[in-house]
Amino acid sequence: MKRLPRVLVVEDEPAIAELVVVNLRHNGFAPVWAADGEAAQRELDAVLPDVILLDWMLPSESGVALARKWRAQSRTKAVPILMLTARGDEPDKIAGLDAGADDYITKPFSTQELMARIRAVLRRRSPEQVLGSVSIAELVLDAQTHRVSYQDQALKLGPTEFKLLYYLMTHAERVHSRAQLLDKVWGDHVFIEERTVDVHVKRLREALGAAGSLVETVRGAGYRLTARPQPALVAAKA
Ligand code: CA
Repeated sequence: MKRLPRVLVVEDEPAIAELVVVNLRHNGFAPVWAADGEAAQRELDAVLPDVILLDWMLPSESGVALARKWRAQSRTKAVPILMLTARGDEPDKIAGLDAGADDYITKPFSTQELMARIRAVLRRRSPEQVLGSVSIAELVLDAQTHRVSYQDQALKLGPTEFKLLYYLMTHAERVHSRAQLLDKVWGDHVFIEERTVDVHVKRLREALGAAGSLVETVRGAGYRLTARPQPALVAAKA
């Protein structure tokens, strides 16, 4: 079953929040409303959203302070942030982007434009949307809780390794070239070198420990995740 993309709406004005929430729902998103930073933090601690829609002017902590904080935390740093700013406030926009926001939209905004911006941010950040959970040979990845385990032992993965593993697991047994992985896992970050893929595959194998052998190097072709690794063959080819 396909999970709806979850949007955390951090907005203190109920009228705007309601308008946004209703439109999100009509456009196939699962919105959650938080009226201030504290409420938003509680939501983030419970379930990671796919995108955060963050108002600049909030009662206690400002949107920029929150963006900066969430960017600095490993759990939330990969979640795209779209900031809402007041009309024509150029310094606000720059400060918002500096704090780690992925994009901003100026109030008053058209709801259609807002939906389009949210979809664009989601596409840029995760070309392969991370949804649901998947398991292969006792390796289990739960996309909703961002947890990975092998033989019931929890594993710690960085955000890129997580996305890479998700892609490999959802496209298992097939060989993927470095260029394909860059396209599918890194998206439009075309300035990244293919060697970067090797670095992250190495980190992924280390993080997987005993399950690292499920990620095979196919010489001259790329990488594959397989439920039936052939250790002798891999070692001979490495
Ligand atoms: Ca506000």
